[in-house]
Amino acid sequence: HLSDRMAAVAAYVPDDARVADIGSDHAYLPANLILNKRIQFAIAGEVAKGPLENAEHEINKHRLNEQLIPRLADGLAAIQPEDEIDTVVIAGMGGRLITQILEAGHQGDTQYDTIIVQPNLDVDVVRKWFMQHQYAISDERMLFDDGHYYEVVVAQPGSAHYTETELQFGPINIQENGPIWRERWSRELARQRGIMEKLVAADQTQSEAYTNYQQT
Ligand code: SAM
Repeated sequence: HLSDRMAAVAAYVPDDARVADIGSDHAYLPANLILNKRIQFAIAGEVAKGPLENAEHEINKHRLNEQLIPRLADGLAAIQPEDEIDTVVIAGMGGRLITQILEAGHQGDTQYDTIIVQPNLDVDVVRKWFMQHQYAISDERMLFDDGHYYEVVVAQPGSAHYTETELQFGPINIQENGPIWRERWSRELARQRGIMEKLVAADQTQSEAYTNYQQT
C-alpha cells in the first residue's frame, strides 16, 4: 500500500512503461506498479547499500526478481541500454539533488519519454533544468500528505519557455489554480506577511529607543 505522496507519483507512470526509479530505497513504488500489473519491468537504482538492501528485501518478499532489478549506482548510471527504460522517476529528494542527477546522466540527445519528479524543495530548479534540456512540463500536482505539501512534476520531450513565475509556481499549477496549490501558497504568503509585520514592529521599537536615547 503506497502513501498518498507515492500514489500520486505512481499515477503518472504510463501503463507498460519500462521504469527506472532512482533513489528507490524500499522499491515500494516499482514493486507496487508491477504487483498491480501496471508495468512489467523496472530498475530500482540506489547509491547507498542500506537502501539497496531494503529494495532487495521487498523484491524477494514479492518474488519480483525477474521484473524488478536492484542496482547499486549513482543516479542514472543505474540504467543500461538493454533495459530500454522509457520512464524515469526521481522522488523524495531535494530539487537540487534531482537536478544534479539529471545533469550528470544527461548524454548527447538521449531523451526519456517521461520523467516524473517529486522534489521536496527547490522545485523551480528542476523545472528550469527541464526547460533548458528540451523537456516540456506535461503535468503537475500539489498534494497534502501526512502534514506536508508535496509537488509532482511530469516532463516529456518538447520545447517550452517558462517565466520566472512559472518556474516558481508551475505553469500547469497556475493554469489549473487548484485548491491545494492555492492553499499552500496562501499559507506561505501569510507566513511571510507575519515575518514582515514583526520586522516592521521591531524596527519601530528600535527607532523609538534610538530617538529616546538621543533626547536624553
Ligand atoms: N524514492 C523514495 C521515496 O520517494 O520515498 C525514497 C526517497 S529517500 C528519502 C532518497 C533515496 O535516494 C535514499 O535512499 C538515497 O540513498 C537515494 N539517493 C540519493 N542520492 C542518490 C543518487 N545520486 N543516486 C541514487 N540514489 C540516490
